[in-house]
This record gives sequence, structure tokens and C-alpha cells, in this order.
Amino acid sequence: MTMQISVDKTNPLFALGKNNKRAFFNGEVVLIGAGPGDVDLLTVRAYELIKQADVVIYDRLVSQDIMALVSEHAECIYVGKKSSDHALPQDQINSLLIEKAKQGKKVARLKGGDPFIFGRGGEEIQDLLKSGVHCRVVPGITAASACTSYSGIPLTHRDFVHGCTFITGHFKNNELDLPWKALARQDHTLVVYMGIKTAPLLAKSLIKNGLAPDTPVALVSNGTSEEHTSYRTDLLHLEEFVKENRIKPPTLIIIGRVVNALANELRNNEATFMVEHSC
Ligand code: SAH
Repeated sequence: MTMQISVDKTNPLFALGKNNKRAFFNGEVVLIGAGPGDVDLLTVRAYELIKQADVVIYDRLVSQDIMALVSEHAECIYVGKKSSDHALPQDQINSLLIEKAKQGKKVARLKGGDPFIFGRGGEEIQDLLKSGVHCRVVPGITAASACTSYSGIPLTHRDFVHGCTFITGHFKNNELDLPWKALARQDHTLVVYMGIKTAPLLAKSLIKNGLAPDTPVALVSNGTSEEHTSYRTDLLHLEEFVKENRIKPPTLIIIGRVVNALANELRNNEATFMVEHSC
């Protein structure tokens, strides 16, 4: 059986050819991954599009250095939210994107990390397409890649793990309904976005389902920014560690043997690695 994929040939991008994907169209919305914070981690395409935008609708995790690239003539609208405190509800964000696009503006929807990884990019694209607004997504470096790279943690390493799973620790009604048995695996890396509040429950559930209490855990706060801090603990001590160190979002939690995969090399070699602010 062959799968049919329908492609919208009316999208102006088709008229452009390969080399012009850095051009913004009037009436287009581009969801742009702004990466984890360090401006150098933007893609070239993101960089070019941000500079051309007429309207920039941005979230809390978009760094000031990146906002500094926006044209002084652009209208900047902050719609950021903390997990429990929405500055603008999602449906209103979607309506705003549609409204600005229909005014013929070049609309950049700037999101921390990658728009399609816990970024609600999918929801926004659904509404834009339903409303007949041309849109596209520029991928960004997600927190999992950036925080681990800057902290000397390989997300996968053949000696330790066979896979890696990204989960969110933020759930409706504060209930973590996850396939714990499948997640509690020694040969797997688990990356938790938005997990600081639910870290105690997370640790308990993993241990209860068979993951060793001494499984290494890394926490990376404000990854790649000037305040980048990476911490090491283990699953058993995660709850008290978070409390004692008053760890706050944005923090990424990495659970698994890869956390210490390079520990010896990082400590005992003359050659330097980029870790600067770790404890
Ligand atoms: N779309 C984003 C994720 C948004 S969810 C991405 O792809 O990275 C927000 C969560 O991502 C935060 O609570 C935190 O867990 C993680 N996060 C995002 N940026 C981070 C950073 N610079 N440092 C640490 N964690 C980060």
C-alpha cells in the first residue's frame, strides 16, 4: 500500500527554490526555534528571519540576546507563561498570530528551544492552517541537546544506553500518568522537561518500578546562558537536592548512566572541556 501525502502547492515557498528559504513573506507566520538561550545556537535561517519580521510574538524562554536581533521597527508582543500562570491563553495566542498574518505582516513566532518539542507548536500550526494562513517551522536546538552538550553529558553512549526518551513533568491536575515500567530502565536515558515541581514524584515512581536508587541524575539550570549551572545527584536524593539547592525553572533533568559517562575524562585529563559553571 502506498501512502499519499498531499502538499499545498499554493504555499509561496514552492515558488522560491532551495536558496530562498531565508526570505519572509507578507502574511506568513514562521514558528522559529530560538534555541536554549545562547544566541550563537540560532540557526542561520532563524537569524535571517528574525531580522526581517514585522511582528515578533515571543515566549518567556527566548533570551534577551536573541530579542536584540529584532528590527527596531518590529512590534514585539510578549505572550510568555510560567507553567501555572499563563500570560495569554493558548487560543488567544493562536488568534493573535492569525490576526497579524491576515493584516499582511511577516509574523515571527519565537519559541525557546524547538517549537515542536513541548512547545505547543503543533497546536499553533493546526489553527493557522485551519484559518488559511501560510506557515512554516524553523527547528531550534532543544534544551535536551544544548544542556547536555554544555555539561559534558552525551545523551546516548553505546557503552551505557540504547535509547533516550523525552518526557514532560508538567501534567494537568499534577498527576503523572506515565508508563513507569517502560521508563524505569537502566539502559535508557530519560530527559524531563518542566520536571522540577514533580521531581519527587518522578523519582519515587521510577524507584518503585525498579530503577536503581543510585542512578545518576543531572540537573541543568538556565542551560547555555551566563547562569548555566549543572548539578549532579542521584535518584534517591533528587527531592532533597532540589529543595536544598532551591533549584528553579528553567531546569532540565537528565536521568541515567550517561550522566557520569564522561566523569573520569572530565576530571582527569589535561585537555579542557567547556564546562564552566558546574557544581
Ligand atoms: N521547546 C523547548 C521546551 C519548552 S518546555 C525546547 O525545545 O527546549 C520548557 C522546559 O524546557 C523548561 O521547564 C525546562 O525544563 C526546559 N528548558 C528549556 N530551556 C532550558 C534551558 N535553557 N535550560 C534548562 N532547561 C531548559
